[in-house]
Amino acid sequence: MSSQDYRQGLAEHRLSRRDLLRGSAAVGLGAASLALLSCAGGEEESTTATVAPTREPLRPTPPPGPYVETATGPVSTSDLGFTLMHEHIFVLSEGVAANFPSVWDEEAKKTEAVDLLRRLKDRGVSTMLDATVLGSSRNVPLVQQVARESGMQVIVATGLYTYNELPYYFQARSVEHMAELFVQDITEGIQGTSARAGVLKCATDHAGVTPGVEKVLRAVAKAHRSTGVPITTHTEAKSQQGLAQQDVFESEGVDLSRVIIGHSGDSEDIDYLTKLLERGSYIGMDRFGLDVYLPTDKRVAVIARLCEMGYAERMVVSHDAAVYWDSFTPEVQQALGANWNYFHILEDVLPALRQAGVSEEQIRLMTVENPRRIFENVGSY
Ligand SMILES: [Zn+2]
Repeated sequence: MSSQDYRQGLAEHRLSRRDLLRGSAAVGLGAASLALLSCAGGEEESTTATVAPTREPLRPTPPPGPYVETATGPVSTSDLGFTLMHEHIFVLSEGVAANFPSVWDEEAKKTEAVDLLRRLKDRGVSTMLDATVLGSSRNVPLVQQVARESGMQVIVATGLYTYNELPYYFQARSVEHMAELFVQDITEGIQGTSARAGVLKCATDHAGVTPGVEKVLRAVAKAHRSTGVPITTHTEAKSQQGLAQQDVFESEGVDLSRVIIGHSGDSEDIDYLTKLLERGSYIGMDRFGLDVYLPTDKRVAVIARLCEMGYAERMVVSHDAAVYWDSFTPEVQQALGANWNYFHILEDVLPALRQAGVSEEQIRLMTVENPRRIFENVGSY
């Protein structure tokens, strides 16, 4: 089909994610911007797509059947295996290391990360979702190297992490423009690499849905609907921000079963958690080891209770840990939770869940099957 036909097609109907991917390959790198424009009504600043050249020409061919994008290329969803659904590798204050390089030894941290991820892979974790985006100095070229050298399948994210205000650039621009940039990450590649985002990320904390946060949630919703890529979030569970997020997503026409309400495991409030679940979302029991919010035994008891109530099909597990998180000194990190690391679920949580009566089948749902189903439910709409 000619590129004229393709543009026409985009204007008339939304394409499936796979079509979008095929289309962007067929007509070059402007397809994503066009797809978004077709549902956003058009923004002056969106009409020209400038795209950095791709550094790695050898993007692996997608496997047959459903697949998810990772830092090292598309992976069949049936090969995801045991998946930690909300981790980080490096979380750095935006812009600090770029301005003061003496505070950041990239080579040393990379070596540490490769070693940790290799060991984690040896223990049976084959996939990790790295939920790091703009606002935490996302560095996909570095994550790509770590993934390659460790053999870990790392799903990388696009989106924006803020609890309140936006970077000035986005304060001055539209929701549609923000969404367009997220779509570029999903369909074309991130930061000049061939790695495409497999998930969209946003955050709502104690400040609630502030004007800045609302703009991010709406941009994430628009990018989700135009690409089909799932949404994963950060919430403050104690102020029930998950429900506020669901309200905004719903108003954007988002199918809430495509959304993981993150950090729900910080809460023991079964009433709140079942409200989230009954609206169709997955919930992230994803801060194991962060005892400062809720100790492991209580997190385990909540999961066991929700499994009894029939919700094993709607939970995923993780730690929200990182190799290096620059806002915490080692002493503070220790105070946050001595077990806050990538290995805590394997070593302590799974045995505790079994002890609490959670079956092998339910554990498999939360660690393997639910992640697979989330990344198979990816058509645009
Ligand atoms: Zn996180």
